[in-house]
Amino acid sequence: ERTLAVRLGVNRTTVVNAYRELAAEGLVEGRVGHGTVVLRLPEEAAPGAVRPMRWAGPTEAEEPLMADISAIVRRPGAVSFAHGEMSPELYPTGALRELAGRVLEDGTALGYGPIAGYGPLREAIAAELGVTPEHVLILAGSQIALYLISRVLLQPGDTVLVEMPSYVNSLGIFDAAGVRVVPVPVDRDGLVVDGLDELMLRYQPKLLFTLPTYHNPLGVTLTLERRRRLIQLAARHQLGIVEDDPYGRLHFTAHPVPTLKSLDPGDYVIYISSFSKSVSPALRLAWIVAAPPVVERIARARGNLDFRAALLNQRLMEAFLREGRMAEHLAALRPVLKARRDALLEALQAHMPEGVTWYVPEGGYHVWCTLPRPLTARRLLVEAGREGVAFMPGDYYGAGQLARRGFRLNFSYPRPEQIGPGVQRLARAVERLMRE
Ligand code: PMP
Repeated sequence: ERTLAVRLGVNRTTVVNAYRELAAEGLVEGRVGHGTVVLRLPEEAAPGAVRPMRWAGPTEAEEPLMADISAIVRRPGAVSFAHGEMSPELYPTGALRELAGRVLEDGTALGYGPIAGYGPLREAIAAELGVTPEHVLILAGSQIALYLISRVLLQPGDTVLVEMPSYVNSLGIFDAAGVRVVPVPVDRDGLVVDGLDELMLRYQPKLLFTLPTYHNPLGVTLTLERRRRLIQLAARHQLGIVEDDPYGRLHFTAHPVPTLKSLDPGDYVIYISSFSKSVSPALRLAWIVAAPPVVERIARARGNLDFRAALLNQRLMEAFLREGRMAEHLAALRPVLKARRDALLEALQAHMPEGVTWYVPEGGYHVWCTLPRPLTARRLLVEAGREGVAFMPGDYYGAGQLARRGFRLNFSYPRPEQIGPGVQRLARAVERLMRE
């Protein structure tokens, strides 16, 4: 499949999907040792014969890893460092229940609402960022934001610079958009800006996709100095930057680094954020901040996709912000997350054998660990599964060889009393691998 994709100059997924469609029609068959062979051409159906319906169209590839992880997590006494969300007691359930009652006192929250989002919510978000509401578009999650950006601003064959490793669900979007992805390395100070000039000249990319603050999966943060250089580079080369920032509000330091968007003098940055990580992913609410003509184009495309974000949830979040509930919630949440991070770091320090290293995140949900050579995180997952511990192996995040020794530990989901014992069991699995 890979060879054919390269020869035809298309994505591997396109080749896989083509084979699947032919297989669904019964026109090809795979034989071990003989590759895939064409069996026959489509036949005319006999008059009056009923042929079963077969749906053509692309099928997304299945990821067997998630099934393996769910199997580990389902076992009694399991500890999951694999999740991408908070444990349920951290959601602001009481405040949301109370506000939902008020928002539903009449029927005004039950209509469609405007295409670009509920006006007062756009205003509240705009005010926080110091822009006008025309810069803000409310969408049903960052995932839709990314999808629409790829639909509206990119064309098949364009080149996009993407951090490796990167947010895993962005990779499927770029693949589906038919764009060429050029990887950019990330280290403990975030995206490596040195060398970008050369990539710009060689590939002339349309945009860069980056998670500068509390990266997923690495947990690292782009330094202020690198942020300034990145913005200068964008200006020099007319490079668009998509800044994905769902974790920025979850900072554990008094002075978090400013967003790329706030340093942007020329609308190079399209900023995406979401309530998924700070409040709840069930609300499916995110927003884009960009130049008004870009907002307008994306808003029109959303009309064709999901029509509107849920007005009820937008009204709820608008009340949550206006009544100061967000500020209260974040003030309570940050120290809880920080304590879980500290518990995780302390347990790693206490239990992990020599040779295992990790980055210290200043906010967000994740700690990235690296195993010593020649261990791999996939192999560790099998061993950790026996101990009832799950995590996300690094190569899942698109970085291939580079990240085979890396893995992501989430600290927002396991309860504090699970973290120490969970790491102890994980360390036992690492030691067993080392002895092999
Ligand atoms: N970007 C990043 C970096 C994320 O980690 C996530 C959630 N895992 C998202 C985007 C998606 O968030 P949403 O629920 O808003 O689609």
